[in-house]
Amino acid sequence: MTLIINSVPQWRSIRNKIDASTPIGFVPTMGALHEGHISLLHRAKSENALSVLSIFVNPAQFNDKEDFAKYPKPLSADIKIANECKVDYLLLPIDTEIYCDHYSYVISEKNQSTLLEGRSRPEHFDGVLTIVMKLFSLVKPNRAYFGEKDFQQLVLIQGLVKAFFLDIDIIPCPTVRESSGLALSSRNQHLTALQREKASLIYQLLSTYTDPLIIAQKLEQAGFSIDYIEKWCDRLLAAVKLDNIRLIDNIPFNHQPS
Ligand code: AMP
Repeated sequence: MTLIINSVPQWRSIRNKIDASTPIGFVPTMGALHEGHISLLHRAKSENALSVLSIFVNPAQFNDKEDFAKYPKPLSADIKIANECKVDYLLLPIDTEIYCDHYSYVISEKNQSTLLEGRSRPEHFDGVLTIVMKLFSLVKPNRAYFGEKDFQQLVLIQGLVKAFFLDIDIIPCPTVRESSGLALSSRNQHLTALQREKASLIYQLLSTYTDPLIIAQKLEQAGFSIDYIEKWCDRLLAAVKLDNIRLIDNIPFNHQPS
């Protein structure tokens, strides 16, 4: 059974008793768990003696207060999934303990974090890197699992580990999709059945065309508003809004037929 831990001191005392030779796999999330998260948990479980899942909806990475307020928090369903996945520890840190510094310390990256998502969501990656650094310091994992779905985040976390000489292997995991191609996301819960069907166009176009302008044009014609469609690090990345719901996706650049 998954051990649920809300208190940082309680976790630290448990962590201190785990033998240094026991490999720990860590999956940090914001909850509202779906098959994408589950794929990371299965991997962490199969490759390590102990698995740790964290759920924390991190205020510091939301530039939009409304987006933070309406972020789904189905805690009992998440606990059920953690148990089904046989996760060893579920960390549910509380804001005042994890931000014991009152948001005073920040990890900031000055180059890659200013592009793409960073351009549209100022300070988003400061929030992400800061919480990940805090969680890494608490969990002290051997391996940490991140989805390619958030490709820029993955690249920045790989950079974080390198920059601060952290002995953590960052394991990239492929994007899990619905059969329509739509990338699973906690935010998909906000989509109606019709919007969900329409949203599958993002992946369909990314995997059909190589020219960002053509993709943007076709998405606009279908009623999306475009945040960016860009090539970056051998990927084609997209962020679009459908009736004010922001969706992101990306695929390897050589994935398309032409
Ligand atoms: P989140 O809860 O959105 O912060 O995501 C937690 C982790 O799950 C991140 O590493 C995400 O990249 C990953 N993730 C989210 N959606 C998917 C997906 N559809 N496939 C694979 N990984 C995902």
